[in-house]
Amino acid sequence: MSAQIIDGNAVASKIIAEVKDAAGKLKEKGRTLLLAAVQVGENPASKVYTANQAKSCEAAGIEYKLHNLPADTSKDQLRQFIGKLNNDNKTTGIILQMPLPPGIDATSIQSEILPAKDVEGVNPANLGKVVFGEIELCPCTAQGVYQLIKSTNVELKGKEVVMVGHSDIVGKPIALLLLNDLATVTVCHIGTRDLASHTRNADIIIVAVGKPNLITADMVKDGVMVFDVGINRIPLKDEKGNPILNDKGKPRKKIVGDVDFDKVKEKASFITPVPGGVGPMTTAMLLNHVVNAGQR
Ligand code: NAD
Repeated sequence: MSAQIIDGNAVASKIIAEVKDAAGKLKEKGRTLLLAAVQVGENPASKVYTANQAKSCEAAGIEYKLHNLPADTSKDQLRQFIGKLNNDNKTTGIILQMPLPPGIDATSIQSEILPAKDVEGVNPANLGKVVFGEIELCPCTAQGVYQLIKSTNVELKGKEVVMVGHSDIVGKPIALLLLNDLATVTVCHIGTRDLASHTRNADIIIVAVGKPNLITADMVKDGVMVFDVGINRIPLKDEKGNPILNDKGKPRKKIVGDVDFDKVKEKASFITPVPGGVGPMTTAMLLNHVVNAGQR
């Protein structure tokens, strides 16, 4: 059996079309949606993210403003800036770009974002609401994975789910979302003694670790559903196993997830690719949250 490949771009496009429609209706009522992104200092990876955010917002009819703060911004100055955005009537949602400069703890700043404007779902208030099944502003990737699972129409009640990875904004909220649907959820992590003994029993496996090939075909049962959150950049190799170099003589890289996709897909019933699986859903959920915040 070869798995059905879940097209994250297709599911995300549908959500973005709904967002655009909702944004248009709000505009008719005189309410423009504005996503404010806060970036402290320069970061090449963030530049790519913010450019993508701007493009996605434009496609969805949401205004986007990037606030570039100097690299030497202090924690107090950043808190004050967030406070200004919290009080700004035009700003619908706030997104804080990572990483922050050393010495500024992300969690403490995320706690400063007004929960109603916290479109990433990283404020403790919004994270806490997931416990009660309130997910209007739940962490974007977690909700994106949940929506992808739902897109298969699987009945979650009674399913054995293994969540590999227990980060605060991915693994833990995903576990809670599935628990609310009466799945039996096991959370595995760096401290888990025998990962394969858990994954082999799973009807659904979600992996968010950041290690290529962590989940191999011998670790899964036939018919399993696999959702790969991991993002890893690994060197491209030729048939002889030598690295392929770019014009500057540096190794070319490709993006892979945490699952041995080619082999696991031969046993799975459903699987998400990387790229093109969970990634586009994270952005779609972010835009969806801006609409949710605007409607509130
Ligand atoms: P993290 O990096 O904060 O933590 C990693 C997790 O993996 C921890 O729970 C740790 O205990 C676990 N872990 C580490 N080694 C392990 C092992 N050998 N066996 C089992 N568990 C192990 O987690 P994160 O921020 O959720 O990120 C995880 C991955 O997901 C990264 O590759 C990240 O880039 C990716 N990610 C992707 C998206 C997306 O939109 N697709 C969004 C967020 C994160």
